Amino acid sequence: MAELFYDDDADLSIIQGRKVAVIGYGSQGHAHALSLRDSGVDVRVGLHEGSKSKAKAEEQGLRVVTPSEAAAEADVIMILVPDPIQGKVYEESIKDNLRDGDALFFGHGFNVRFGFVKAPEGVDVCMVAPKGPGHLVRRQYEEGRGVPCIAAVEQDATGKGFELALSYAKGIGGTRAGVIKTTFTEETETDLFGEQAVLCGGTAALVKAGFETLVEAGYQPEIAYFECMHELKLIVDLMYEGGLEKMRWSISETAEWGDYVSGPRIITDQTKAEMKKILGDIQDGTFAKGWMKEYESGLPKYNEYKKADADHLLETTGKELRKLMSWVDDEA
Ligand code: NDP
Ligand code: MG
Ligand code: MG
Repeated sequence: MAELFYDDDADLSIIQGRKVAVIGYGSQGHAHALSLRDSGVDVRVGLHEGSKSKAKAEEQGLRVVTPSEAAAEADVIMILVPDPIQGKVYEESIKDNLRDGDALFFGHGFNVRFGFVKAPEGVDVCMVAPKGPGHLVRRQYEEGRGVPCIAAVEQDATGKGFELALSYAKGIGGTRAGVIKTTFTEETETDLFGEQAVLCGGTAALVKAGFETLVEAGYQPEIAYFECMHELKLIVDLMYEGGLEKMRWSISETAEWGDYVSGPRIITDQTKAEMKKILGDIQDGTFAKGWMKEYESGLPKYNEYKKADADHLLETTGKELRKLMSWVDDEA
């Protein structure tokens, strides 16, 4: 079973005794910086020249300096810029400002796991990754609650890396909910696999294939949209609240029977064999290498895929239909 840590297992005074730099002020960055500050931690935010979020961070009472100034001042440096640029930001602004005994923190293990960031030996390398978007992390903190986090230590130079990570997690409310101990390898590989095979890739492909099947058989796209896309939320909400059991308790017996007999015809042994190949590509670095290459060459295929899906009948139909549903929020 996983090892879990709560408020009583974490000592907030450890992080309160350090100087923290939060590099980046996006979804995670704003939540970490504000909540650490409200937990009595000495925080500065590191942002690049021309940053769009600089004004917001300053309005919210934080001191903003450049990423290298922040890294030089601080002894705990949390990198919360987008994953594909972390290697560059590290090389340009952080590397030369690290001293023995400092700690380098991450919200996701990608760059460490695949070797795009290699910290010097004398530095602790830790991860505190909330299992939720930054805005939820901040809101829960303000309400006296927290979002569960996972924490890991890749390099324990001081021998106290995990205590420091737990203390940091307490500063953003994570130990109020519970912190699970993991490794950079486990977090990175399972995160990439989950988003590719199930959450984003798998689900999007499933919805599109179902929608296309109905439309190609002559049914109206609007009806197909409701059946294959819109209702997905109701099903997922039930799973989220009470697992497959609650979902099956809520749906009709007919739907439940169809679930048992047809589900395994969709996700077959062949699908699972492909999932294993996807996992293999993640584990051996093929995926990471390909993604960094695509990113560095200006995202040509990425933009091509994005455009193709934006023009898909599923999306154009959904855009119109959602206007009929005043309660559906289509803001970004
Ligand atoms: P965002 O894209 O929301 O935010 C990126 C921030 O980095 C922005 O403030 C941006 O500034 C800033 N930035 C961009 N370039 C630079 C630079 N060169 N130097 C300094 N700052 C820069 O990122 P996320 O919060 O989504 O992701 C951050 C990390 O957290 C990633 O490792 C991600 O995997 C992880 N994570 C994210 C989760 C999420 O819910 N989003 C959940 C768990 C982990 P500006 O926009 O002002 O230009
Ligand atoms: Mg991810
Ligand atoms: Mg139905």
